[in-house]
Formats: sequence, C-alpha cells, structure tokens
Amino acid sequence: MEKLARPVIAGNWKMHKTISEARHLAADIVSQAASLSQASLILIPPFTAIQEVKKTVSGSHLLVGGQDLFWEEEGAFTGEISARQLKEAGCDVVIVGHSERRQYFGETDETVKKKVLAALRHELRPIVCIGENLEERKSGETLKKIKSQLENGLFGLPAEDFSQVILAYEPIWAIGTGQNATPEQAEEVHSYIRQLIDVNYGQELAACAIILYGGSVKPANAFSLIKEKDIDGFLVGGASLQAESFMGIVSEACRADEG
Ligand code: PEP
Repeated sequence: MEKLARPVIAGNWKMHKTISEARHLAADIVSQAASLSQASLILIPPFTAIQEVKKTVSGSHLLVGGQDLFWEEEGAFTGEISARQLKEAGCDVVIVGHSERRQYFGETDETVKKKVLAALRHELRPIVCIGENLEERKSGETLKKIKSQLENGLFGLPAEDFSQVILAYEPIWAIGTGQNATPEQAEEVHSYIRQLIDVNYGQELAACAIILYGGSVKPANAFSLIKEKDIDGFLVGGASLQAESFMGIVSEACRADEG
C-alpha cells in the first residue's frame, strides 16, 4: 500500500450527502486542495456515493474511503458490504470500529480485528478508532481503555499488517459535542499509544505509525492540536461536511507542518 504523507486528514461524512451533494462537496474540496498537496486527504462518503466521489477526485491526490465493512468475502449478509466491493468501488481506506458503530451496532474489539484482517486482505488501509467515554475519563481509566482496545483488537497482528493500520484516537465525549480534547489531553494519549506500539512492535514501527486525533476538530483548534509531537493528523466528522471548514483544517495542519 502507498505510504501516506503527514499530515493525514480524513473526512467522515457519516450518513450525510446524497450522490449529487457528495459530488459537489468533493469537487469543491478538490478545487481548493491543489495548493495543499503535502497533506494526505481522504474523503469518506456514504457507500452510495463512493463511486461518484472517486470519479470526482480522479486526477487529484485525494483518496476515498468507506465507513465500515464486513469481514466475510461474500454471502447472505443482508445490508453488509465487503472489502472487495469497497476496493472495486474506488476505496483505498476504510474506517473500522468507529465509536458510533461500537455504540449503536454492537461492534467489539473482536469484530474490529476480523474487519481489519479482511480490509488488509484486499489492500484497504484500515483507520481503527479507539477512545474512552466520559465516565472512563472521569474515573481515570482512559489509558487502561486504550490499552485494552489495542491489545484485544490489534496487537496480535503480524508487524507487516500492523504497519498498514492508521489509528484514530477519538474520545467519545468529544465526538460531535463541540468540546475537543485539549492538545495536552490528546497528546498524553497519543504518546501513550506510540509507547505501546514501541513495546509491541519496536521503535521503527512506532515512529512511522500514523495516529490521528478525532473529536470536534475545526479550523480554530486544528493548529494547536497538530502542533503536538504525536498527533499526525485528524479524523473529522461535522467539519468535513463543508469544503470551507474541512479545507480550513487542512490549511491549519499544513501551516503547522511548515512552521
Ligand atoms: C467522528 O465522528 O469521527 C468525529 C470526529 O466527529 P466530529 O468531528 O463531528 O466530532
């Protein structure tokens, strides 16, 4: 799989945008992204719009992703989508274990692992989401939760597979709430994740690992977050639904990279 340049900024459109709305948004982003080609940008529309978005970004450096996948190759699994289907539709990347999937659709660390393996079999780079809820943060259990999600969902993978995974630290209390983690709160968890990767896979892989932050990222807080040593980019929800706010985040992230 192609190596991704930092910063990596992915927009998760969730259950927003029809095909024509998606085409317009993708076209707006492409037209503003040419001057910011040092960043790796990933658009993650709903399944119905993947092909259209792929067509719209062709010829640019933007990548396209899926929001979820099922681990079987094919079969009687109504409503599910396979890695092979995503790949042929134009995806390079797929989100796995988003907290909304964990919260509303029964995703567990075990299903995350199966999905990661299915994605890798088809050369789709998984973005695996981990993070604590408010209660866990308040009771000082954040790092324990992160460690258990990584140990149960990912650390059994061979190094070659793990090296393809993008991690996204997304504190659940910060998603869609307007209340982002402070740069210090986020960095504490990001550097802990890198330390755990070091212990499990060694220093080289830890240094190369891409660890995104997600949770109410917007242009106004992107610069201070990306300035932290272990934050390599963002997974953006709400602010990715408009070209102006998404590209505002991208340009803040690139500005920090230059300075
Ligand atoms: C997300 O859902 O991954 C996310 C980070 O959402 P938001 O940016 O809206 O908090």
